[in-house]
Amino acid sequence: MRIIDLIISFCIIELFLASCSEKECNVLVIHSYEKDYPGYKEYNRLIEKEFSSSSFSADIHYFYLDCEQYDEPGEIRAIKRLLDTCTHWKPDVILVNEDQATYSLLKTHHPLLKETPTIFAGVNYPNWGLIEQYPNLTGFHDKIDLKKNLRMIEKITGQRDIYTVLDYTFIDRKIREDAREQLVTDSIIDNLDWRFNWATVVRESKKGKIVFSGYSVRNPSKQWNRSARPEKDFIWAVSKYGSRPYLQLKFDYVTVTIASSSTRFRFTAINELFDCGYNFLGGYITPMPVQVEEQVKTAVRVLNGEDISCIPIRESAKEYYIDWNILHRGGMGLKDIPAEYTVINVPFKVRSPFLWWFLWVGGALFVSCLLAFVTYLYWRETQRKRNVLYALEDEKESLALAVAGSDSYAWRLKKDKMIFDSFLGKKSDLESYSLDVSVFCSFIHPSFLPQVESILHRDMIDGKRFVELQCDFDGKGYQWWELRCSTMKSIFGEQKTTGLLLNIEEYKKREQELIEAREVAEKAELKESFLANMSHEIRTPLNAIVGFSNLLASPDMEFSDEEKKQFIDTITRNNELLLKLINDILEISRIESGYFSFNNEDWSLAAVVDEIYQTHSLLMPRTLEFSLEKGDGTVWVHLDRDRLVQVITNFLNNAAKFTTKGYIKLGWNYVEERHEVELYVEDTGIGISKSEQKVIFSRFYKKDEFVQGTGLGLFICKVIVEKLGGRIALSSEVGVGSRFSVFFSAEKRDF
Ligand code: ADP
Repeated sequence: MRIIDLIISFCIIELFLASCSEKECNVLVIHSYEKDYPGYKEYNRLIEKEFSSSSFSADIHYFYLDCEQYDEPGEIRAIKRLLDTCTHWKPDVILVNEDQATYSLLKTHHPLLKETPTIFAGVNYPNWGLIEQYPNLTGFHDKIDLKKNLRMIEKITGQRDIYTVLDYTFIDRKIREDAREQLVTDSIIDNLDWRFNWATVVRESKKGKIVFSGYSVRNPSKQWNRSARPEKDFIWAVSKYGSRPYLQLKFDYVTVTIASSSTRFRFTAINELFDCGYNFLGGYITPMPVQVEEQVKTAVRVLNGEDISCIPIRESAKEYYIDWNILHRGGMGLKDIPAEYTVINVPFKVRSPFLWWFLWVGGALFVSCLLAFVTYLYWRETQRKRNVLYALEDEKESLALAVAGSDSYAWRLKKDKMIFDSFLGKKSDLESYSLDVSVFCSFIHPSFLPQVESILHRDMIDGKRFVELQCDFDGKGYQWWELRCSTMKSIFGEQKTTGLLLNIEEYKKREQELIEAREVAEKAELKESFLANMSHEIRTPLNAIVGFSNLLASPDMEFSDEEKKQFIDTITRNNELLLKLINDILEISRIESGYFSFNNEDWSLAAVVDEIYQTHSLLMPRTLEFSLEKGDGTVWVHLDRDRLVQVITNFLNNAAKFTTKGYIKLGWNYVEERHEVELYVEDTGIGISKSEQKVIFSRFYKKDEFVQGTGLGLFICKVIVEKLGGRIALSSEVGVGSRFSVFFSAEKRDF
């Protein structure tokens, strides 16, 4: 959290500082040509970009002089009007572009120019006299370098003879003068205007290399507009030079239009025509981005407080520029161009052919792989669908076979309706048979309703449920049915419940018959084993009684008194055993037959356990430690007190019988979570093996035949405990000891 807070605060501070450091300024940009000149959109964008990367937030106003529409006084008037309007919105700096606007602006001698720093750019022929009158002015002289342009033309076209078209305006005159100065060694044919006839043109052109054609605005006050065309004779005369390369030296629509008749490459020594849709191949020029950068950077320096008079007027940086689109259209390539030339608009394919092919082939490969992969996925999905459909058909067939004739009905739950494919003979081929859940429930025996309602409930959890219930669908009485139900989430995420309704009446009848048959068989088996056990258990003591009685009664035998006493003791012991056996058997039969009544009452457990403990402490062998472990609180139970005493007594007698050293513990504790009490007898006797523990509560089980007892004690205990609603448990380990426990539901009270 702290780190995030820090980052947010840092960003806010940064933004605050940035907004504080950004100074506002007003910038007036004056362009020479009309607003629709194709280069201005990019020019303005570059100005804004340059300012936005500086520390100034510039409010920029643009003015387009549209110099083609006016004569010189008209242009000056238009700019004067513009400067007059700058009363409320005063520019902090003026950026003026190209010769026409710069000249007209300076010609106004407007007072605003005295106080506003002005930076000119793209001026091919500055009027130095005027410029010197403005100390608040600096800029960039875009000096046309004719020699370099001619060399470039020669290098690319192999031709030294070129032609151009000029007018007789101030700038055109300047261009002529400049050309004569720069090309002192070259022959120039000048003033070839429409008044010359073709014979003169041919004769004159043979004399020199460079033809300066000229058209004359015979009436200088005449307003040229873009649609205006020079005289047809002149165009015809100029068209004779169409096979020579053309070099553009100034920007106006008339010369540009005439130049378009050239069949060779067209070059330009000024940046206005380069890369603006006029189809010029290139030239030795200051490109527009460089011009803007130079101009705006100087403006920022001035705005930052630098003295403009200390910034000298410089020549703008130039380079050889070629437009690849035109070069390519002319059937040439990059190899035909000197390496030091800057070529713009080169397509990626030409610039990096290897990478282009690599990407193209890679892309094609990727698309092919993707298509192959998608096709493979589609094929796999189709296969999977087909397999699923086959499996479904098989499953449906198997289900139909399983269900056929078995009185079973498949259903699915839709909202509150059970939809059956067919139901009790009500089958429609067209639509499934549907039954409201409430209607279905009305057929069910009320005792099964809670179960059914819970499994047909709409919010049931995933899983399978089976419920056997009695339903009367046809009014002929209740029959046994099994409702099978499976709930799961479908692939669309919704809960889906489907199921099967099976008539299990026959099965239930069979089951009942089997249960009854098993009970009969069990009873018979029980009787048989009981009789076998009984005959063994009764015969053993009886044989002893009869045998020793006969011995005593035998007149032929002489026994000492000691021997007689032994015989009588044996007969008495076996009598007692026989009596106990008979009593135990009678008790079992009474309990099992149900004639034995249990006198259940509420009583406090602690008192009874205390009583048992007192009684047995007198009878316990002195060698053993006999202790009582009491549970917490007062616990009440509801059961037959005497029977419980009988069970615990049996446990204690057994413990005493099978423990020779250590301790015997009688105890109880209350199990809070289950609201029941555990009564236990724990000893450190011989212990009982795991296999013995399984059968120890069966009838007549005795591990050792010679141990005194009937083997019925624990069986009687188990039967009594179960009749009292409790359960009996044993945990024991051979050689360690045993713990016999009984559990009954109990209640903890405060008294
Ligand atoms: P009886 O009525 O003859 O005492 P029981 O059903 O009570 O017979 O006991 C059956 C057999 O269970 C005993 O013969 C003895 O092998 C085993 N047994 C019962 N209690 C214990 C005990 N506390 N420790 C070890 N063995 C025991």
